[in-house]
Amino acid sequence: MDISSRATPLPDLQGPVTRRLAIAVGALFIAGVIAATAALLGIARQLDEDDINDVRFYSARALENRITASKNYITSYAYWTTAYERLSGTVDTNWAYNEQNMGKTLFTNDGYDGLFVLDRERTQYAVVRGQLLDAQMPAFLQVPAMSLIEQVQNQPDLTKPVSTYALFEDWPALVTAAAIIPNDERPVGDPHKTSVLVFVDKLTPTKLRKIGSGYGLNNLTLAPDETIDPGQPRVALDSTGYSLVADLERPGQHLLWSLLPTLSPALIVLMALTAWFFRHALRSSRYVDNSVEAMQASNQALLASNRALEASEERFRAVAEAASDWIWEVDQELSITYLSARFSAVTGYPQAQWIGQGIGHLLACDTTPLNLWLRKLNEDSNASDLRCTYRDCKGQQRHCRLSARPIMESATLVGYRGTASDITDEVAAHAQIQHLSLHDALTGLPNRNKLSRYLDDALLLKEHAPPVSLLMIDLDNFKPINDSLGHPAGDAVLHEVAGRLRECTRDHDIVARLGGDEFVVVLCGMDTHQEIDRFCTRLIGSLHQPILFEQQPLHIGASVGIALSRRHGYVASELIRCADIALYQAKSEGKNTWCYFEAHMSDQIQTRRQMEDDLRSALTNNEFVLHYQPRYKVDGKEIVSVEALVRWQHPAKGLLGPDLFIPLAEQTDLIVPLGRWVLREACETALTWPADILLSVNLSPAQFAISDVVEDVREVLVGTRFPASRLELEITENVMLNDTDGALTTMTALKELGVRLNMDDFGTGYSSLGYLRAYPFDGIKIDKRFIASISTGANDRAVVQAIIGLGKAMGLTVTAEGVETEEQLDILGKDQCNEVQGYYMSRPIDKAAFASLLQASRAAAVDPSRPRKGRVT
Ligand code: C2E
Ligand code: MG
Ligand code: MG
Repeated sequence: MDISSRATPLPDLQGPVTRRLAIAVGALFIAGVIAATAALLGIARQLDEDDINDVRFYSARALENRITASKNYITSYAYWTTAYERLSGTVDTNWAYNEQNMGKTLFTNDGYDGLFVLDRERTQYAVVRGQLLDAQMPAFLQVPAMSLIEQVQNQPDLTKPVSTYALFEDWPALVTAAAIIPNDERPVGDPHKTSVLVFVDKLTPTKLRKIGSGYGLNNLTLAPDETIDPGQPRVALDSTGYSLVADLERPGQHLLWSLLPTLSPALIVLMALTAWFFRHALRSSRYVDNSVEAMQASNQALLASNRALEASEERFRAVAEAASDWIWEVDQELSITYLSARFSAVTGYPQAQWIGQGIGHLLACDTTPLNLWLRKLNEDSNASDLRCTYRDCKGQQRHCRLSARPIMESATLVGYRGTASDITDEVAAHAQIQHLSLHDALTGLPNRNKLSRYLDDALLLKEHAPPVSLLMIDLDNFKPINDSLGHPAGDAVLHEVAGRLRECTRDHDIVARLGGDEFVVVLCGMDTHQEIDRFCTRLIGSLHQPILFEQQPLHIGASVGIALSRRHGYVASELIRCADIALYQAKSEGKNTWCYFEAHMSDQIQTRRQMEDDLRSALTNNEFVLHYQPRYKVDGKEIVSVEALVRWQHPAKGLLGPDLFIPLAEQTDLIVPLGRWVLREACETALTWPADILLSVNLSPAQFAISDVVEDVREVLVGTRFPASRLELEITENVMLNDTDGALTTMTALKELGVRLNMDDFGTGYSSLGYLRAYPFDGIKIDKRFIASISTGANDRAVVQAIIGLGKAMGLTVTAEGVETEEQLDILGKDQCNEVQGYYMSRPIDKAAFASLLQASRAAAVDPSRPRKGRVT
């Protein structure tokens, strides 16, 4: 089902738009009002500035006109020949004052407050406010007369007047001065001698108001500089401390003040209206915005839920198709109404083939009928899954784990739906694990677990059930094969043995492998010795047949221990224990045999077991020591060789001789590590002794049989750097008895290493002189039993003589062992034996004692007068 069509996205309206619109319009309105106000204020300010500039300009202009007028006026008096004649030098006061040429009228008509005629010496004529006075100009006018005269007289053109401002009777006045010169052709002469006419125009407020009104200035007046506002336009009258000022009209302010009464209420009304409008607009916009937001939110929620639904469906599809599970639905009648696509992939059936069919036809469960299980779901919705089987399209049985839930519509059950997980592999793996836990992986035989279960069942009914005979089998010579040829060979042997054991048994017997080379055969309904002996003969015979591995025949044997249920009990573990003890007994009795359990074996074997355990730990705990027994030339004085003899420093039993533990070590294969240790220890010790002393080490026949003696010896020689020519290996005849050909090969290889070989205990076994010829021996040691009797029995002496003669004839060194008396030594000397060894010369002693014995013996050899200390008893 595609639901994407449901998710029609609405326009993506973002934020409260109408509210923003209203705020924008409001802001525009406020901006308009501000702009209009600013424009109005600008105009007003501009008007005021223009007013200021006008006042400043017209004030200056009025003053300039006053100056110009004054200059023109004074020129008309000073540039006049008559005046020149009447006023230069001594002033003609009559002409000037009385005749009104230059007298009172200048004040009364023209407004000049002061009139002076000066020369460089004094004021010649003075009229103040129309009154002729005999006074000096500085008394009224604060301007230096001399500088004014010089200013006038220094003019390039004397007709040009000068003007300045000065305080006249403490009030600013316009002072205009001109040189009194003729206006005819008459030469003026020295300008510095001309008289100067000065007019003082006191700038009274009346005069100024009058002047100002002519220029449209209101109240043009003078004010002290310090009293004038900085913003007030003014025209400064230099050096008087006064400036010309006039009232400002301030048209801008007038404009504002004239507009304010009308504009303000209008603005207030407008603002109130605007505020109301905005409030209303904002409220509606908020309402609109809220509805838009709500719309957006619901749209978002709709989109999100659509997306979640899509994702969920996608997930469902992915899970339904990717999982190994398939999904099913059935209606109330348990007919299949839906099967997911995985169904076809897993079962190989087309979905359509099963739609409409009862689910019980497809799936089956051995323990619970499917329909009952489904119905039960109504009461208990947490019911656990059900394991079912079915046949796929190829007819193969498959397993699945079924889970289910009721489908309810308006509280009515309309069917069930659930998943079926294919667990075929899981079931197979489980079966495999089960099998592995009960079977030996290498041979496929039942293992100890399965054997125990089998025995428990077989022994359950005790004497009411058929008798059970349990045969515990241990392979002989398996370990050397495994060690020397490697695990593949060992595995092949075990495989073959398993096969042969199965061949020997009947279907209802069981053959199990307990581990290593230990097998068990359980024979049912057979417990007479006669029958069992027959079976064992067959079994040992079968296993004795060589096993071919890579075209090489491998020889093994078997020892069998037997326990019988009717005699030894109905407890499985006890039967196994008894058979194990019997097996031990069989092995110690010599291999390739069988032995029935007897009660007395238990203790014996227990002791041996304990000893074996002790022996094993003795190796790791380094409890072995070597004693050394010297071998002399037949004179009994010169030491030529030394024999290493092992002892066990038992923690409880004290120092034990080799007879007490070597046989056990040989039976348990511990002889191999022990032999290696002896060889290494002896070689390392002998290295500290003189190079002409040979070292003898005993090798057990078991070492020959179960380990690679040649490799062991080579390793020690290489490891200790002990010269092979100093090493002598003592071997008993039994070596040759066990494996004639193998022994020869080994001995030849040992000889090739460069060591010497001595035949030990010659005369005790099935001694065959033929061995001496066939094997590469360097010497023989006549057993101590012959030596013990040479002094008593003439017959024994003859045998010893014969051995000596024969040995020598074959080029062998003949040693007599066990020389205990001087007499024996003398006889051997007479019979020309080569070397002697025995308690008479020295018992086996530890290495320190041997070192001092050797030293003493060497010293005696150098100085024969010294007493013989070589004998240790
Ligand atoms: P063997 O190799 O014939 O050693 C000589 C044995 O005779 C030694 O006994 C020695 O102490 C004993 N003996 C020497 N002189 C006299 C004497 O005058 N009178 C008497 N009655 N006995 C004498 P031991 O040390 O008890 O060794 C016994 C056997 O144990 C050895 O006989 C040898 O076969 C075996 N053996 C000793 N050490 C080793 C070893 O390292 N490896 C192996 N495989 N066997 C060993
Ligand atoms: Mg020996
Ligand atoms: Mg010996």
